[in-house]
Amino acid sequence: MAIKGDYFDGYEVMSAWEREHYLNRRLSRTIKHAYKHASAAADVLDKVRVDPAEIKTIKDLEKLPITRKADLIENQKKDPPYGGYLAVPPRDVERIFISPGPIYEPLHSSRIKWFARAFYAAGFRKGDIVINTFTYHMSPAGILFHEAIKDCGATAIAMGTGHSEVQVKTMLDLGVTGFVGTPSFLSAVIKKAEEMGYDLGEDFSLKRAWFTGEMLSPSLRELFEQKYGLKTFQAYAVTEPGGCIAYECSEHSGMHFMDDYIIEIVDTQTGKQLGPGEVGEIVVTPIHNKRWGLIRFGTGDISSYTDEPCPCGRTAAKLTAILGRSDDAVKVRGMFVVGRQASQVFAGFSQISRFQIVIDRPAQRDEMTFRVELKDETVDRDKLAAGLNEKFQSVCLLRADSIEFVPSGAIGEKEKPLVDRRTWR
Ligand SMILES: [Zn+2]
Repeated sequence: MAIKGDYFDGYEVMSAWEREHYLNRRLSRTIKHAYKHASAAADVLDKVRVDPAEIKTIKDLEKLPITRKADLIENQKKDPPYGGYLAVPPRDVERIFISPGPIYEPLHSSRIKWFARAFYAAGFRKGDIVINTFTYHMSPAGILFHEAIKDCGATAIAMGTGHSEVQVKTMLDLGVTGFVGTPSFLSAVIKKAEEMGYDLGEDFSLKRAWFTGEMLSPSLRELFEQKYGLKTFQAYAVTEPGGCIAYECSEHSGMHFMDDYIIEIVDTQTGKQLGPGEVGEIVVTPIHNKRWGLIRFGTGDISSYTDEPCPCGRTAAKLTAILGRSDDAVKVRGMFVVGRQASQVFAGFSQISRFQIVIDRPAQRDEMTFRVELKDETVDRDKLAAGLNEKFQSVCLLRADSIEFVPSGAIGEKEKPLVDRRTWR
């Protein structure tokens, strides 16, 4: 595996053939090991009568059910502390993190460069001084990101969350060049610096920011990049399977899959794998170590992927934006309508004060109706309806069957924006 450009390691530029073989080989080994050593993993396969030797490729994972956070919590309650997912003797556990549930997660091996590829792709290098504003308390974020910053050669400051005034002072005193945290926390720190009378561009050395935990909105990204001259990057991380699932390169057009995981985008109803551009749930199986027998973890996040070549040279497919949560999404005529995404479409029309999307199935066919309240009753409704449908189709790939303009106040304050009235009998 030759490294052609500036990459963290050769995995990032594997050929399609190399990647397929690498992932399938790791997956098959991981499943065999988990079946033998983790009772919860064995239960998953036994329940559907699949022999571990049958899981040879990513496609074979479709034979297995999806494990949810609730299963993890329930199993850990029944079989404490690890719920049958630990596939090594407990004495070999290097560290334990705790996430809400509570879920006990033994993570092992500082040898694995969990987040380093993500930080490297974001340009963190020797000479950078980076504040890590994620918590070092209980959850894995603080320590894992800290190590990844170090793995790129940069100097990490163990700041943790909160205390924006102390963050500002530290950034000034130490000449901090990089920020690691959430977009909203960076906004708060910048606001605090301005309140304290500083000018971010003039007084600070901050050059780049790396975000996770919250999606970076295009408007906030533009503000950070244009007004403050920062280079911004984001990554998608999930705690339960232990890490960074996908990360952005300088192209800012999606997040490359991390080769330490099998990442599937699946139909939430059938669990079947979907192709490029199709919207479904992100399902993750860690294959980077044999210690945690978690197979097909359903993240509840909705996204799609693209396998178009990326100009950065990295060869892994990319997750498109995280569109929302599966409990905020309904499937209409085979396509997902995600509440958050729909809200963004409606928000683009200033003439609309309130909306509701109603899905019904009157004659064995899904019907989608937009109910719309107007700020100004005199607008050209036909023009607005056409514009709305066009925009909605470009984002959600569906058109409304009808658009009803309802009187102001017809949609109650507490009503949900996405209402599914279909009954499946
Ligand atoms: Zn790229």
